[in-house]
Amino acid sequence: MVSHCAPKKIFSEEAKFFFIITLILSLVKGQNEALGSDIRWGFWAHKRINRMATFRLPPEMQVFYKKHIEYLTENATNPDKRRYAVVGEAERHFIDLDVYGDSALLILPKFWPAAVARFGEDSLRKHGIVPWQIQQSAYQLTEAFKTKNPGRILKVSADLGHYVADAHVPLHTTRNYNGQLSGQEGIHGFWESRLPELFAGNYDLWIGPAEYCDNIAIEAWKIVRDSHLACDSVFLFEKQLTLRFKKDEKYSYELRNNVLTRSYSREFSEKYHQMLAKQVERRMKASVKMVGDIWYTCWVNAGQPDLREISGFAPGIKEAQEQAEEQKSWLQKLFNVRTESD
Ligand SMILES: [Zn+2]
Repeated sequence: MVSHCAPKKIFSEEAKFFFIITLILSLVKGQNEALGSDIRWGFWAHKRINRMATFRLPPEMQVFYKKHIEYLTENATNPDKRRYAVVGEAERHFIDLDVYGDSALLILPKFWPAAVARFGEDSLRKHGIVPWQIQQSAYQLTEAFKTKNPGRILKVSADLGHYVADAHVPLHTTRNYNGQLSGQEGIHGFWESRLPELFAGNYDLWIGPAEYCDNIAIEAWKIVRDSHLACDSVFLFEKQLTLRFKKDEKYSYELRNNVLTRSYSREFSEKYHQMLAKQVERRMKASVKMVGDIWYTCWVNAGQPDLREISGFAPGIKEAQEQAEEQKSWLQKLFNVRTESD
């Protein structure tokens, strides 16, 4: 006997499930927009970097990566959302090199086990671990390629792109990360969100094909070294320019999400951007290069698996369920953080 109830029940459960997911995702979107002004590299830049990196891959990889370019773009910001919810996430985005003195780059071991043996894990995590996290994520991506696990390849690629991009931001390599120690509060969002928001439309982010990295650990340390070297001009130029501007000319007020928000004025931003002489563009372009290079290197190191076999992958109910659970936990933490700080 054919039951008329069974199909109806399945349909209503599925409908309920997708309704809940849609609701959660839209709530998260709203939260992200509300938090947008203090998000690292700006959400826009992170998404752009992962997206542009995809175009640098060889055809054998593009068969999979281009098909999932929207996933890689949209999920480029996941690690920032997790910062508030997942223990151990926050320290993956930065390293306070100046905590270790002038010879930080000489004394810090390139590999994690040696670093833990010398400084202790708690101390390392306190001051940020981004160059070691890049190595760890690259290892995970190589393993995901070896087992041809499409969901894992996508998730780790998106996260790895985020960490590599963060390591390119000068202010992610100093304990004075928001100018709080030098009377320049707000400089973090100014450099990595306000400037790209105003000027990145003119940036040239096209680079040639991805290149193989002989040593990802060395490259990761070169990234943070170059970022740290750029810190001097980031702070100095802002200070010099501030002396030339009246306070009411340095800032302007704009309506964002119906809230009157103080921002660096367009004139101040333009002058600062000029003084930095394309520094933001260069760091963003270097991010695109390194994300593509590392994705490609992991694939080569895994033996260049044939990605055509998994190109038909579409995230199913299981992946959507996992993502919804993850989003839900971020949301709960976000609400808790806000309630505690109220
Ligand atoms: Zn980040």
